[in-house]
Amino acid sequence: MFAPDAFRLTPAQAELIAGARRFGRRVLAPRAAQHDRDATFPIENFRDMHREGLLAICVPKADGGLGADYQTYCLAAAELGRFCGATALSWNMHVASTLWPGALADDLPMSDEDRAAHARRRRLHYRRVVEHGALYAQPFSEEGGTAAAGASAFGTEAHPVDGGFIVSGKKIFASLSGAADYYGILCTARAEGEGASRRNTLFLAVPARAPGVEVVGDWDPLGMRGTVSRTLLLKDVFVPEDEMLMPRGVYFQAATRWPHMFLTLTPTYMGLAQAACDFTIAYLRGEVAGMPPVKRRMIATKQIAVAEIRIMLEQTKALWFQAISEARANPAKEQVLRAYAAQHTVMESANAIAAKAIRICGGHAMLKRFPLERIYRDSRCGSVMLPWTAEICLERIGREALYEPGETDG
Ligand SMILES: Cc1cc2nc3c(=O)[nH]c(=O)nc-3n(C[C@H](O)[C@H](O)[C@H](O)COP(=O)(O)OP(=O)(O)OC[C@H]3O[C@@H](n4cnc5c(N)ncnc54)[C@H](O)[C@@H]3O)c2cc1C
Repeated sequence: MFAPDAFRLTPAQAELIAGARRFGRRVLAPRAAQHDRDATFPIENFRDMHREGLLAICVPKADGGLGADYQTYCLAAAELGRFCGATALSWNMHVASTLWPGALADDLPMSDEDRAAHARRRRLHYRRVVEHGALYAQPFSEEGGTAAAGASAFGTEAHPVDGGFIVSGKKIFASLSGAADYYGILCTARAEGEGASRRNTLFLAVPARAPGVEVVGDWDPLGMRGTVSRTLLLKDVFVPEDEMLMPRGVYFQAATRWPHMFLTLTPTYMGLAQAACDFTIAYLRGEVAGMPPVKRRMIATKQIAVAEIRIMLEQTKALWFQAISEARANPAKEQVLRAYAAQHTVMESANAIAAKAIRICGGHAMLKRFPLERIYRDSRCGSVMLPWTAEICLERIGREALYEPGETDG
């Protein structure tokens, strides 16, 4: 998908990414249709990922992980997205719980005391993942309000008590619900009499089996059916201090200084875009298993549609690759605008490519025994993912291109 020579990847990156591709093709692809049909969580995929080391892809090598950096992770995740969008998306929620406290946190300012405490705590989380295959979910979305869009404090609150926090609140769309061992929730730390502030956002790993944790509601959506993103209720849950995935205040720093942290939802959709193109070419060449070997490639309108798909795909890949290669602390304004543009482009193009692929392949390609209609439904979900929905990206690109920080028209 991103040839190592063409995209100047190192041999180590190329090996890890090729491993993810082989894993996706061998393990994820054969199971994807059934989990989509039944809207069940593909837990066996995650058990196999543990054996393969993939649950610890962003855990440093010194802690027993594969030590992938941000760009390598994104490229590996795109490979998994080609074969099962729902698994790749849920995997992203898990991996973010190791990447954010890891490489991201290392780039951010912290007191020596906080950094030492953080280093000790994250080793606990890493060990759970590496040794026991623990799964971390990442539910931050909340009903109504603008917290998940990054504009206000989270309504889920953590009240400091001896040795930890008492957490209460409600999270919607908790991918991995019921399967996760820990819910990496974003909440507002708030002592008695203190106001709610985004600066006091806490990133806490809430143990799934802690008293007061409940998963409710059903899951029967259009696409991404295997993520099983049900509702999470937290009622007076005691969460020990060691479950802090970042020290107090550091998530706020990350969200403002390391904005590419939110771009990690895109690799799945980049993979889906590639998968729609791959299917179309195989189908028109008469090479799809389960179809008679009838070639449909000689029709000019189909050739033109393939060309349009290729152009959209190349534009999307080029912009996305550039954006994921620029992820760092304190990026330049141009780089942030490019990250929004990449997010918007990937999420919208993946579905546009899938729609065009269905149109041009025709009736057979809509059958449920082929992956294209699933790719179409899964890819539709990308644009609504907070905090960088398609509309929010447009809004920010327009405003931030026209106004420097602090500028007004008054
Ligand atoms: C398959 C799937 C898996 C998910 N997994 C997770 C997960 O693991 N963790 C998690 O936290 N969330 C997850 N989400 C939730 C997702 O990130 C959004 O929070 C959710 O889709 C919002 O749904 P909503 O009905 O509130 O829509 P809204 O957020 O109201 O969106 C509807 C429309 O309003 C626009 N909009 C919303 N807010 C703003 C704003 N502030 N400014 C401008 N426009 C805005 C959007 O762009 C969109 O066009 C998942 C969602 C899906 C579909």
